[in-house]
Amino acid sequence: MGIVIIGGGQAGLQSADSLRTEGYAGEITIVADEPGLPYQRPPLSKDYLTPGKEALPLPLRGEAFFNDKDIKLLRGVSATAINRQARTVALADGTTLPYGQLILATGTRNRTLGCTGAGLPGIHGLRTLADAEELHAALPAARNVVVIGAGFIGLEFAAAARAHGCNTTVLEFAPRPMGRALTPVMGDWFAGAHARLGIDLRLSEGIDRFEAGEHGRVAAAVSTTGESYPADLVVVGIGVLPNDSLALEAGLQTEDGILVDARLRTSDPGILAVGDCANFPHPLAGGRIRLESVQNATDQARHAARTIMAAAGGQAEATVYADLPWFWSTQGPYRLQMAGLAHPQDDTLVLGDPAAAKFSVLCFRDGFLTAVESVNLPGDHLAARKLLAGSARLTRHEAETEGFTLKAAAKSLASAPA
Ligand SMILES: Cc1cc2nc3c(=O)[nH]c(=O)nc-3n(C[C@H](O)[C@H](O)[C@H](O)COP(=O)(O)OP(=O)(O)OC[C@H]3O[C@@H](n4cnc5c(N)ncnc54)[C@H](O)[C@@H]3O)c2cc1C
Repeated sequence: MGIVIIGGGQAGLQSADSLRTEGYAGEITIVADEPGLPYQRPPLSKDYLTPGKEALPLPLRGEAFFNDKDIKLLRGVSATAINRQARTVALADGTTLPYGQLILATGTRNRTLGCTGAGLPGIHGLRTLADAEELHAALPAARNVVVIGAGFIGLEFAAAARAHGCNTTVLEFAPRPMGRALTPVMGDWFAGAHARLGIDLRLSEGIDRFEAGEHGRVAAAVSTTGESYPADLVVVGIGVLPNDSLALEAGLQTEDGILVDARLRTSDPGILAVGDCANFPHPLAGGRIRLESVQNATDQARHAARTIMAAAGGQAEATVYADLPWFWSTQGPYRLQMAGLAHPQDDTLVLGDPAAAKFSVLCFRDGFLTAVESVNLPGDHLAARKLLAGSARLTRHEAETEGFTLKAAAKSLASAPA
């Protein structure tokens, strides 16, 4: 029996690709509920919405890939149930697929608002190509845009809306933008940067309700302070929830995602989970974590392929997943890159020039470097990834030395004897 992968996103596609790279010669079937070729999500809130840019499809792999690698892609059909005893997956079209190994790569879905008016026309989410197509079509005619949530996607969209000339307001109930993922110093810098772009970023102010205009479309967003903001286009970016119900209904352990071990195996050894839907142990997290990033989706998929091949007695060695997390976000002219996992309580050191929008924030825990956030300094980001992935641990004391740069530190690490 072959391998079935549920989910045709970044993690699902990479799992199939890596299984072939690792020498798996059996049948591979990907069950993908979205239509069309699997595509990249990151550009949907960035280049795809930039004024004057054509909205081009952004496939993860070309059509030829599936033929060349002999990978069966079932498009536009969802998996509806897993029968672990019979080792089968039921599909919405009535078919049943047998599997030897099953990989769950079901990703996440957007959280939705439950407030009055949340379902009015003109209020959008941003996760799928279909969502981005609607926004791409709506932006040129929009005047007053309100974004709910100052997370990565909300702020990327806000910068795009502002670049289209829209009056753009962002409502965020927390006191800082991107507060879950960034250090306070970086969050505060971005609050100022968005204000300089002309975005009205309202912190510590949530959404109370939406009001409709004459034609039944959204016309205003009323915040928790009672303020009313005119709105003809609204984007809700308040985070995501893992798609773990298939796993839960099949009796697998779930808790904010599908629980897997360090080799990405669920509580059933015949089933693995990877990407946004997986909740896994990571040494840098000091426990379990669920990450939503391209790096995590692709690296976990590679590890999962090795786990499967090693269990089948192949050449591959099953490796514990402990890869360095990294992430990026482009908000107007600002390219933010992060390496490692920053904690709001980390001790920080700023290098570079925040006023010129070229700087890095180094995070230290117990005196050692644990994460680096960079703005418009891709060289610093790459150096930080090398430093954090290596075994030598940079101290705050070393980073404070006159003339210290991340690039030089990474270079000297590379040339140091093993
Ligand atoms: C607008 C946007 C911008 C982003 N920008 C960045 C960025 O700049 N940098 C970054 O690192 N990350 C970014 N991300 C996050 C990144 O795209 C995700 O972390 C990554 O796509 C996760 O891959 P995945 O395969 O785990 O999940 P997904 O890409 O969500 O793929 C899962 C797929 O499985 C399908 N599926 C679910 N259930 C079933 C079922 N029962 N049957 C069949 N199919 C099913 C889903 O419909 C989906 O197509 C962004 C995400 C979005 C939405």
